[in-house]
Amino acid sequence: LLDETIGANFDRTAAAHPDRPALVDRAAGVSYTYRELADAVDAFALGLLARGVTAGDRVGIWSPNCAQWVLTQFATAKIGAILVTVNPAYRTHELEYVLRQAGIRMLVSASTFKTSDYRAMVGEVRASCPALEDVVFLDGPDWDAVVADGRALDPARLTEAAAALSPGQPINIQYTSGTTGFPKGATLSHRNILNNGWFVAELQGWTHEDRVCLPVPFYHCFGMVMGNLGAVAHGSCIVIPAPAFDAAATLAAVQDERCTVLYGVPTMFIGVLADPGFASYDVSSLRTGVMAGAPCPVEVMKRVIGDLGMTDVTICYGMTETSPVSTQTRVNDSLEQRVSTVGAVHPHVEVKVVSPDTGEIVPRGESGELCTRGYSVMTGYWDEPEKTAEAVDADGWMHTGDLATMDGDGYLNIVGRIKDMVIRGGENIYPREIEEFLYTHPDIVDAQVIGVPDEKYGEELMAWIKVRPGADVPTAETLRAFCTGRLAHYKIPRYVHAVDEFPMTVTGKIRKVEMRETAVELLG
Ligand code: ATP
Ligand code: MG
Repeated sequence: LLDETIGANFDRTAAAHPDRPALVDRAAGVSYTYRELADAVDAFALGLLARGVTAGDRVGIWSPNCAQWVLTQFATAKIGAILVTVNPAYRTHELEYVLRQAGIRMLVSASTFKTSDYRAMVGEVRASCPALEDVVFLDGPDWDAVVADGRALDPARLTEAAAALSPGQPINIQYTSGTTGFPKGATLSHRNILNNGWFVAELQGWTHEDRVCLPVPFYHCFGMVMGNLGAVAHGSCIVIPAPAFDAAATLAAVQDERCTVLYGVPTMFIGVLADPGFASYDVSSLRTGVMAGAPCPVEVMKRVIGDLGMTDVTICYGMTETSPVSTQTRVNDSLEQRVSTVGAVHPHVEVKVVSPDTGEIVPRGESGELCTRGYSVMTGYWDEPEKTAEAVDADGWMHTGDLATMDGDGYLNIVGRIKDMVIRGGENIYPREIEEFLYTHPDIVDAQVIGVPDEKYGEELMAWIKVRPGADVPTAETLRAFCTGRLAHYKIPRYVHAVDEFPMTVTGKIRKVEMRETAVELLG
């Protein structure tokens, strides 16, 4: 394990590769070498000190992806301020909750992006957040003002502040995606996230030659840990294709920057592959990457390897509370392993699959709740000791809430979330299996299956489908006919609902909670 702070790790890379490219922000048209990045990080870190921010203070960041996001991440890490990453899709109600819950002292925010007027929203909630002393709009003169304040300080202050830190201290609060309920603030240390970023990248074989295309949001661990920390720990270059996911901008970034690595949740890869201009981009530089966050349909995986040329793509499984990654496929794994498993346990992490009822380990091949343990488990939910005690047991096992099976080689398969499992007439049904099957229908491009209340069976299945542009929408009858003889009768969806989009979290996860609420209204 790396036994150092994020700041120390950053300084090591910057000293080893000063002239290598470190960061490219395509929308802003700026790029940094590691020397330039180190200078910019130190300048902002000194500014934070000048503004009175010290180790343990919470600094929020609320912005789409941009270079200043990365600078803020490493500047706060250097002085030991706890970075609270705030979802740019949040609105005043959620922003106020996070500002108050985490006791944020300084907020670094975009001023506007597309239709989001962040400045106005901050203005609305400011009075009700007494801890919030300072707001810095990163895309305007505020940024330079902070840096200017820092110039008045002796640079030795920064070295002193950095030297006082230790790897076990909290450095980050990240809120979970809110897929199953209200987001919870996972508190993570230098050791937690630096090592996780390092190992995720190690298992893809990164070096300082790699150029990493990150269309995933930075406020989530996928972007800021697996992306930014993994890249800095390896001296690789971070490429920001656009402030928010955009398929064409992602393809252009891969082509123009000769990216070797691409990250995404399955819906992003689906979007990139479906882009009308796809065939016109040269993506031949791509080698590896990560697909994570949600189950990957088999057909998508085949195209990621075949059409995007990501022969070494890995699948990761994890959760915010575990820094995030617990299992990952290896680059030499078979296609079969990459399409039907989420890989094997990470270095220095333990996993077990237990019966949700008895807590006993279940035999290989049987499903149960996945539990993980190791350096990667969060220090706790911020200021919520009861929730922490529910999630992490006395022996240090994180109870993930995910249902998994483990095969004879120790590879895991996520079969669903405990909360999404449908029980119809006493049969346990994992929606994922039906979704995979519906995906083989020629006109269906995406499918999501939920349980809806039913008087007779307790729950019935409803499939939400997205069809290919121009295709006829299958009726419930025609879809049932398609399933008949190929799926057990109790797994055939009773209801079908066609949509243009699924309700999603900004991390690209489908909010089945919201689908179930809508379904209940539809069936009214
Ligand atoms: P909340 O905890 O607020 O309901 P969330 O669990 O979606 O939201 P995250 O921490 O962002 O928030 O996501 C972790 C979850 O994502 C895991 O518990 C798992 O359900 C799902 N997940 C992650 N990776 C994979 C994967 N490769 N395959 C299937 N599911 C995955
Ligand atoms: Mg969760």
